[in-house]
Amino acid sequence: MKVRYSYLPQQFAEVDDLFAELKAFVATGDFTLGAPLAEFEGRFAELIGASHAIGVGSGTDALKLPLKALGIGVGDEVITAANTFIATVGAIAETGARPVFVDVDDSFCLDVDQVEAAITERTKAIMPVHLTGEVADMPRLMALAERHDLAVVEDSCQAILGAIEGRNAGTWGAAGGFSLHPLKNLNIWGDGGVVVTSDDELAARLRLLRNHGLSGRDEVAIMGCNSRLDTLQAIVGNWLIGQTPEITQRRIQNAARYDERLGAIPGIRIPPRRPGVRRVFHLYMVFAEDRDGLMDHCLRQGVEAKIHYPIPLYQQEGLRPYGYQAGDFPISDRHAGEIISFPADQHLSEAELDCVVATVREFYGA
Ligand SMILES: *Cc1c(COP(=O)(O)O)cnc(C)c1O
Repeated sequence: MKVRYSYLPQQFAEVDDLFAELKAFVATGDFTLGAPLAEFEGRFAELIGASHAIGVGSGTDALKLPLKALGIGVGDEVITAANTFIATVGAIAETGARPVFVDVDDSFCLDVDQVEAAITERTKAIMPVHLTGEVADMPRLMALAERHDLAVVEDSCQAILGAIEGRNAGTWGAAGGFSLHPLKNLNIWGDGGVVVTSDDELAARLRLLRNHGLSGRDEVAIMGCNSRLDTLQAIVGNWLIGQTPEITQRRIQNAARYDERLGAIPGIRIPPRRPGVRRVFHLYMVFAEDRDGLMDHCLRQGVEAKIHYPIPLYQQEGLRPYGYQAGDFPISDRHAGEIISFPADQHLSEAELDCVVATVREFYGA
């Protein structure tokens, strides 16, 4: 049996009703900031439990625009995780601010104990990343941010409906950014993102920023940019958003099955499952002995495992100007050599999940 990683062909296999909607929409010509976008924003805000949701051009912009709306730019520092997807750091850099790294812990999120030491007089904000669909320790991070008067913008791109202490990822800080990229849990047919906030003023600024700063047809209130979520893509979002709780539940169930079965194999270590966290398994990631050997074995057997990510971000060539060096963040370094991700999406059968487990068991001769 082969187990594929990408489920996109399955997710969008039956879309005749969606095509009919898109066809009817095209006849309206309501392409920019149209009615279906407002509907999607309303439904997204309700799903996450925030007062406002603002559709933007990408997940990256959903991180960059709130930083800009909070006045962060050249000369400022923003603290984030040393190991994340490049977009987190790209969003910070695009504002003109400098990204400052803090190592992660085995939850794959930033180690809150190390944040204080990274704060300088230039620090303006913290951007925790809820990597893999884990949720960073937000209660402690918010307390620390308040003590130091720092803004918090959450990178929730991998963590839609993730929660800690019953409160959703993206609703702890001043704002949370989500991605609708095809590889994310709630996915559209191209790029898109959403910012959530419960601050009315911040929401109003974000609506201006994403639309050239235009307060009306002919009035420019502030300098903005063009980063609107396409109304066409919002229709795809509306088609899928109702399934998000079920998609999340299926991923959580699949992960529980893996935890139980993979956790019994010597050679595999399941990351700590902190109580009070609802992790949504955008990625199902574990630590493996002889990871490269296991990876080769899986691929040879037709199990499409992946590594997220093989090079710790802070060590990437493109980030060299920030002056970090190999060894600066030892946990991120260790992870790069130990982690492996297995498919855990909502379209997998139990037989496929068990095939993954059997393939891993076979490698370790257990
Ligand atoms: C996907 C992702 C983003 C940004 O997403 P885009 O929509 O591709 O711009 C940001 N941060 C993390 C952690 C992501 O996984």
